Amino acid sequence: MPKGTIGVTTNNIFPVIKKFLYSDHEIFLRELVSNAVDATQKLKTLSGAGEFKGSTEGLRVSVKVDKEAGTLTVSDSGIGMTADEIDKYINQIAFSGAEEFLAKYKDTANAIIGHFGLGFYSAFMVAKKVEIRTLSWQEGAKAVSWTCDGSPEFEMQDCDKAERGTDIILTIDDDEKEFLENARIEGLLRKYCRFLPVPIICGKEQEWKDGKYVDTDKDKVINDVEPLWSRMPADLKDEDYLKFYHAIEPGQDDPLFWIHLNVDYPFTLTGILYFPKIKNNLDIRKDRIQLYCNQVYVTDSVEGVVPDWLMLLQGVIDSPDIPLNVSRSYLQSDRAVKKISTYITKKVAARLEEIAKNQPQEFEQKWNDIKIFIEYGMLSDEKFCESGLKFALLGNTDGKYFKLEDYRKLIEAEQTDKEGNLICLYATDKEAQYSYIKGATDRGYDVLLMNGELDVPFASMLEQKQEKMRFVRVDSDVLDNLIRKQDEDKPQFSLEQQDIAQTLFKSQIPHVDKAEFMVSFAAMGPDDKPVVITQAEYMRRMKDMARFQPGMSFYGEMPDMYGMVLNTKHPLVQKIVEQAEQSLDAELKPVNADITATQNVINALRDLKKDDKELPEDKKKDLEQSEKHLDELRKRKENLITAYAAGESRVHQLIDIALLSNGMLKGEGLDRFLKRSIGLLK
Ligand code: ADP
Repeated sequence: MPKGTIGVTTNNIFPVIKKFLYSDHEIFLRELVSNAVDATQKLKTLSGAGEFKGSTEGLRVSVKVDKEAGTLTVSDSGIGMTADEIDKYINQIAFSGAEEFLAKYKDTANAIIGHFGLGFYSAFMVAKKVEIRTLSWQEGAKAVSWTCDGSPEFEMQDCDKAERGTDIILTIDDDEKEFLENARIEGLLRKYCRFLPVPIICGKEQEWKDGKYVDTDKDKVINDVEPLWSRMPADLKDEDYLKFYHAIEPGQDDPLFWIHLNVDYPFTLTGILYFPKIKNNLDIRKDRIQLYCNQVYVTDSVEGVVPDWLMLLQGVIDSPDIPLNVSRSYLQSDRAVKKISTYITKKVAARLEEIAKNQPQEFEQKWNDIKIFIEYGMLSDEKFCESGLKFALLGNTDGKYFKLEDYRKLIEAEQTDKEGNLICLYATDKEAQYSYIKGATDRGYDVLLMNGELDVPFASMLEQKQEKMRFVRVDSDVLDNLIRKQDEDKPQFSLEQQDIAQTLFKSQIPHVDKAEFMVSFAAMGPDDKPVVITQAEYMRRMKDMARFQPGMSFYGEMPDMYGMVLNTKHPLVQKIVEQAEQSLDAELKPVNADITATQNVINALRDLKKDDKELPEDKKKDLEQSEKHLDELRKRKENLITAYAAGESRVHQLIDIALLSNGMLKGEGLDRFLKRSIGLLK
């Protein structure tokens, strides 16, 4: 009986194997079943080449648990091995360079086995003894048995085995008993072997009989030997893709679109990627793409293989060029893998362009659901962005969709400002911003609806890519200022009137949480609103950005600055201000005269200082006192106007209406407004 020592000088490699792969013990099954499938495929290849003359019908791999004997057996009827081959493939090859391997990877516990062809030996992660019983396909071959108990010694002898192929019999370790549970094994097979190209049998199909499930004599096939991605796209229908999707992603809505990848140069890659329908933010999850290598499941963490932004997709990618069993950092630096990633991006872009072109209606219908992927892609991937500009859509508040170029043409005539900028107006909430939208559309402008998570960052990106294109929210200024076509009309109020109006309104604005207001003037039309609340586009974007960026949160804490714009052409505003001016005239006249006189004194004193000369002490004092007096006068004027404003309920009413149409009138303020409004009905 031949005995020998496995070609390794380190005394006992098996504890090391166990330790290295501690977290991933279960993959031994994948390794053994893959070997069995390989052996089967090789037989088919030999048959195809005319070397093997026997039948290749019904070839399969079976996995059996014998709980009593404490064994797990993986059997195939593939090519088998002769004694020489065992010597070559198992005894020598597997451990060639094992020393080097150990030295190199001692510290990196997650280093990998596939590298060194330890695939078969991974059996020792869970077995205290492994036996190979095998009969080669070659004529006149003798059956051989090889046994090893986890020490570097093995035994090899002839044995009885009538059927061609290989049985790998593992005597499971005492602390790995879970691998003697049928359910556990079946679960693993479903995970790793679900799409292997040879039928994998595990147990029997069951049926319901006499109040319980019993085995039938029909073998239970675990896998789908011809998964969809391995078939030709031309042979497949939509139903096939949907069915496959629901099989791999149970409980999901139908996907929006899918992409069947199928390439064999410069690398081999197949797969199907689905754009899922995302119902809410909780649905956004990465790591939904499964990675296969020749139909063997590798991982569902595809970071590095698939560009980051595509990780929101679901589906499968299969490539023999993606190294199995390698660490993440290795995968990311691998050149083949990088190429694959670039290729996938290109393919996805091409497919989307094709859908947009050939099924424009469907593309429009699904745009709202799919835009998050496309916008994310365009924001994060320069190359994809280039293609995206061709098919990305803009949707308006009427529910119509336009390609960027078409939209430019649509609004060019009406929405180009005097500097030649194309101004795209947008709203983020159709209801809340209704009156602003209406104002703009009444004037013949188009208003986009940008209510998606990434719409506004997307718009900022377009501003950079597209020449002279600006996005402005409809409520960020009064209509005339949104798209300035000519120089601004001078506000119609005199300086004194502006002074009065400022205080008149500013003093009466109720407290709104986290908001501050600046009163300003604009000569809109007599039919436009009397008072409008605006928030400058740049302010809002700055705050929005701050939300996404840690360390910028102080922006978020700052109160929002709003503009309260008085329409100087509105008759009511004019009337209120003129009446205030008249009523306050007697009281303000002496104050104003004093202000003018004091201002003159100050100016004269400041003139003395002009030539960089120090003022003499007494003049310095004069200046200080005059300045103080001026402050007091202004305060007095302000108090007079404020006192008057307090009794001017039309001012309150106008402010409240403006706040209300911006959704900012709440609580006590709202209550006061309602009571006042009823009072006005009397
Ligand atoms: P790898 O599969 O990466 O080559 P393994 O250690 O898993 O490394 O297997 C070493 C070799 O042993 C295989 O390449 C194959 O030639 C042979 N082998 C393993 N399992 C079988 C099997 N079930 N049938 C026939 N040959 C096998």
